[in-house]
Amino acid sequence: MIVGVLVELSAKAIDKVFDYSVPKELEKDIKVGIRVLVPFGRMTLEGFVLEIKNDSSTSKELKSIISVVDKDIVLNDELLELGKVMRDNTLSTLISCYQVMLPKALKAGSTGNIKYDTYYKLNSNYSDIKLNDKQKEIIELVKNGPVLRKELVDISISSLNTLIKKGVLIEEKSEHYRVSYDELDNSKMKLTKDQQAVVDSVISDINTYLLYGVTGSGKTEVYMEIIDYYLSLGKSSIVLVPEISLTPQMIERFEKRFGKKIAAIHSGLSDGEKYDEYRRISRGEASIVIGARSAIFAPLDNIGIIIIDEEHSDSYKQSDPSPRYHARDIAILRSKYHNCSVLLGSATPSLESMARAEKGVYKLLTLPHRVNGKELPLVNIIDMNKEIRKIKGHFSNELVDAIRSRLEKNEQVILLLNRRGYSSFVTCKNCGYTFKCPNCDITLTYHKSSNTLRCHYCGHGEKVFDTCPECKEKSLNNLGVGTQKIEEELNKLFPESRVLRMDYDTTSKKGMHEKMIDDFREGKYDILLGTQMVAKGLDFSNVTLVGVINADTSLNIPDFRSSENTFSLLSQVAGRSGRSLKEGSVIIQTYNPEHYAINLCKNHDYVSFYKQEMMIRRSLKYPPYYYICNIRVSGKDASYILGEALKIKNSLERNLTSTIILGPSSSSLFKMNNVFRYNIILKYKKEDNLYLILSKVIDHYLTNNKIKIDIDFNPSQMI
Ligand code: ADP
Ligand code: ZN
Repeated sequence: MIVGVLVELSAKAIDKVFDYSVPKELEKDIKVGIRVLVPFGRMTLEGFVLEIKNDSSTSKELKSIISVVDKDIVLNDELLELGKVMRDNTLSTLISCYQVMLPKALKAGSTGNIKYDTYYKLNSNYSDIKLNDKQKEIIELVKNGPVLRKELVDISISSLNTLIKKGVLIEEKSEHYRVSYDELDNSKMKLTKDQQAVVDSVISDINTYLLYGVTGSGKTEVYMEIIDYYLSLGKSSIVLVPEISLTPQMIERFEKRFGKKIAAIHSGLSDGEKYDEYRRISRGEASIVIGARSAIFAPLDNIGIIIIDEEHSDSYKQSDPSPRYHARDIAILRSKYHNCSVLLGSATPSLESMARAEKGVYKLLTLPHRVNGKELPLVNIIDMNKEIRKIKGHFSNELVDAIRSRLEKNEQVILLLNRRGYSSFVTCKNCGYTFKCPNCDITLTYHKSSNTLRCHYCGHGEKVFDTCPECKEKSLNNLGVGTQKIEEELNKLFPESRVLRMDYDTTSKKGMHEKMIDDFREGKYDILLGTQMVAKGLDFSNVTLVGVINADTSLNIPDFRSSENTFSLLSQVAGRSGRSLKEGSVIIQTYNPEHYAINLCKNHDYVSFYKQEMMIRRSLKYPPYYYICNIRVSGKDASYILGEALKIKNSLERNLTSTIILGPSSSSLFKMNNVFRYNIILKYKKEDNLYLILSKVIDHYLTNNKIKIDIDFNPSQMI
């Protein structure tokens, strides 16, 4: 027997299948889709068995595999095929496509740690032997059925061992899953007419649907009803949500309705827990998978529906490392295999998806109203250019008054500090010097708790000095604002209020995120202050005011999607207000009150935003009118890299017919970890040989270790 093995070494140059012979005694364990250990040069590597055959086309003598790693198949036929399509569509290595599908425990170099329960039971046909008192005590405990080891307390271990040795007791092990789900209480709501109409459409026909439903229109309830329908047909489901909305609240809603049938995969789980969930899924014990981007690869059989909630979220695109895939594309590929529908849902659909819906590529469904018949919250936009002379801190008088009135009524407030593209940094008032990372050439962020400056890309850290290294003046100024600073201001403005700060720092400890959300819901706090984390997926009935401290920061990012991202962030966070019986309102503070991305939030006017933004995209030749592809050329020698980037551009200009080629330009992360990066940006509508030509560029530099070429189709960030 000969096997074709794809080894786990993510270098483009060796991304192919190598033949190995199989020793007779291992033949019975060999299946396509398992991993084996093989000799490779001087190394020993894991690899996937992709084919089993009798002959090899190589004339060299074959080496033989060392051992078999898996008992069960790790990659089934569907995923094996999917990987090949992904490789072709993203121009990445096949091995990287397979690796991205698997939990960490199943990747090379890590051993999946499985936990077992040990239990003991009486051997029904043991012969009577004389027992001492301690042994009788143990027999007493297990005589009515198997007992877990951990339940046998205060017993004599040596007596236990003797009983096992003599065959009186049998020791057995069973896998112990580290995550458990509560039994369901079948909480099911009667759907509104609108909701029911959406459900009926989706289950009536196989299609890709775009559900445009305002915040609080009951999309989640619709998802669950559709999943339930497919469950009744014996089919499974995948629900993708951005990691940030994978809140305990969201999981709890699914758990209540579906109990143990769900597997929720989120960053709060340990690698072991993720591995357990993965095994429950591949064994068919869980048939509803809820997770972030990579859950799209869940090894489910017989999928009935794939749902992508908040489909506009850029978290569905993997930017780095490769494969740079979009979960939406994978969903559509998998839906073809399973002959099932895809449902994309959002209150602010991405321009790409809405444009496809307009063209009839996707079928558009809408939920234009909130479930309870409530209006969407009233949005008040505050021009901070006028306010800034009247106030000292970051709070306009309107926002202060509004918060005060909520506190008086015992209602709750959510405050968003828009950190996208924003950080607190230190500059010199005298000469304008800013502290930058020596490795990455980006501004260092000030961390008050440790009084240090840190780089958010490479982790470089340094102490804060009080004199400027450039002009030696003692006039350093902490610009920008962090959540800590706002929290201090709040504490001064409202000394009686209880403020809960939720950001990257306060939620890094396991379980903190969950606890904060529970505490806020239980009313232990009045004000929830946070970054993007507070904008999505939360559903608190007592929140009647949402305040945005600084709407603008995300508008300033050098990215063609900055308006779209700003509009959608503001709409999402506004949607946290007035979700239940009480009336809600929203206050947005901005220095750009006339900017359409902010102005149109006033009436939750997605449709006008869409139209205006589409006009801009058309005139500037951006998606969805044009496709974009970014070619990143990087390496340690800046002038060499630039020279090669220019050569690449020239060769593309000669070979591509209708593509607009921009650059090479230094990336906004020009220097990162001492590596220099240049971008060449392609804009195209239709370019038949693009993939072929780009593959040739990659191949040309395959063995050149001074330069790295990364290709990103439809990049989510232009850095
Ligand atoms: P979305 O996902 O569109 O933001 P949700 O599904 O979270 O909306 O629904 C908003 C709120 O309305 C939730 O508290 C939910 O429990 C409630 N809700 C949804 N559908 C119904 C219904 N048919 N009847 C009563 N309440 C509902
Ligand atoms: Zn750095």
